[in-house]
Amino acid sequence: MTGPTPETAPPPASFDLDCETLIIGAGACGLVAALAAHEAGQEVLVIEADAVPSGSTALSAGLIPAAGTKAQAAAGIDDTPALFAQDIQAKAHGENEQALVERLATQSAGVIDWLSDSYGLPFSVVTNFDYPGHGRRRMHGLPTRSGAELIDALRTACELQEIDIICERRATVVFHEGDGIRGVSVTRLDGASETIACKKLILACNGFGGNRDLVAALLPDIKNGLWFGHDGNRGEAVLWGEALGADLRHLTAYQGHGNVAHPHGILITWAVITEGGVQVNRIGERFWDESQGYSEAARAVLAQPGGEAFAIFDARIAEVARQFEDFKRAEAVGAIQTADTLEGLADQLRLPAGALAQTIADIPLGGTDAFGRRFGDTPLAPPYCGVRVTGALFHTQGGLQTNAQAQVMRPDGTAFPNLFTGGGAACGVSGTGDSGYLSGNGLLSAVVLGRLAGAAPAGA
Ligand SMILES: Cc1cc2nc3c(=O)[nH]c(=O)nc-3n(C[C@H](O)[C@H](O)[C@H](O)COP(=O)(O)OP(=O)(O)OC[C@H]3O[C@@H](n4cnc5c(N)ncnc54)[C@H](O)[C@@H]3O)c2cc1C
Repeated sequence: MTGPTPETAPPPASFDLDCETLIIGAGACGLVAALAAHEAGQEVLVIEADAVPSGSTALSAGLIPAAGTKAQAAAGIDDTPALFAQDIQAKAHGENEQALVERLATQSAGVIDWLSDSYGLPFSVVTNFDYPGHGRRRMHGLPTRSGAELIDALRTACELQEIDIICERRATVVFHEGDGIRGVSVTRLDGASETIACKKLILACNGFGGNRDLVAALLPDIKNGLWFGHDGNRGEAVLWGEALGADLRHLTAYQGHGNVAHPHGILITWAVITEGGVQVNRIGERFWDESQGYSEAARAVLAQPGGEAFAIFDARIAEVARQFEDFKRAEAVGAIQTADTLEGLADQLRLPAGALAQTIADIPLGGTDAFGRRFGDTPLAPPYCGVRVTGALFHTQGGLQTNAQAQVMRPDGTAFPNLFTGGGAACGVSGTGDSGYLSGNGLLSAVVLGRLAGAAPAGA
């Protein structure tokens, strides 16, 4: 791990600065928390390590699942928090705390409607393809379907409320007296430190995906995968939590992705698979049931020769995928190959042509294959498309246990009075491994827990 080691310590005799609600991290969680705290009349200060807020949020597709929103109603989608909660638990094999699942599912729509109505974020529902495991169409995104647009919109909303966001300050020390958090020390780029006192601290600094030592120790299956999240997320929340005696849960949970264009390093939307595409390995053969989801796809792809695979789809599917900026970027840099015949595509991807043609011919249209994947009845048709992909770690899903107000909990079930968390710093709802991640669990936790954490009074 680079940079100063995160510590906890008794408070200094005096602080350089005072604030009421201090938020560490200006990703989706931190900025949503800032808006909610500001609305609750709190004086807010956000500290961010980077020069400009971006985080994993900016790298994401910015899609947030929510059940029962106004946008769903306008699109004629009938959904309920109960159905959403069932889908979350089904994907995570029932390993999540039920109360947390219900909290996130029940409050998701309120957050999307609030961000739309109060701050003008123009969310719409993705209506032209299904995400694995979601029984309803409930992924909400901004027009470009990019997290960069989401983080910029949240930052603009904070700026319009005159919420202070101080960048290029990395929090390194949490000061506490027993259970009570008193403030933090931040390190500037020049190495100098400043201390900030607070009445309430919100840890919105995501998980530990950018900390190679912790990844190797806790997530050995993905330690050789590409790290595709925000490098600055080094696990301070978990390390501070451990030192403070907080309840840390599901530290072995993570979201992977098995469809990252290689070597270009661009996310290829899983729509290319759910719409009827397949993944093959270097010898042109399929190797698993892709409909399980993109998170576990990382492990499946990394287990193939060379740790790589090829997503094979067609022009119809490419048109659906083109709603994502990332897909358009992948096309622009030449990562996506297109050919009028499967032989031509095999040639461009350096795959054995006979094996690829046989694999595509073997797709049981309208039926179920030997891996257990059920296919629709639309065949892949020319022109065909393909892209070389690998498996990546996107973000960790375990972390600090929270209660109904997003307060950090101890193992005995009591809460730290003025310590809150959300997003990747908190324990999410993705079970204990990589196969429990339902699409959108990441931002769901960031925005719902972020709003709860912000709205709660200090010392609640
Ligand atoms: C490629 C990719 C695609 C994804 N797509 C989706 C998607 O479509 N839907 C979805 O739900 N999820 C998606 N995710 C996951 C999602 O991005 C995260 O779950 C979410 O952004 C977490 O938000 P956050 O606010 O907790 O963290 P972040 O957005 O990472 O923000 C944390 C911030 O804290 C700062 N920070 C860290 N440590 C410190 C410190 N010590 N001091 C000061 N600042 C600090 C960081 O610099 C960062 O800005 C994707 C992830 C990736 C990588």
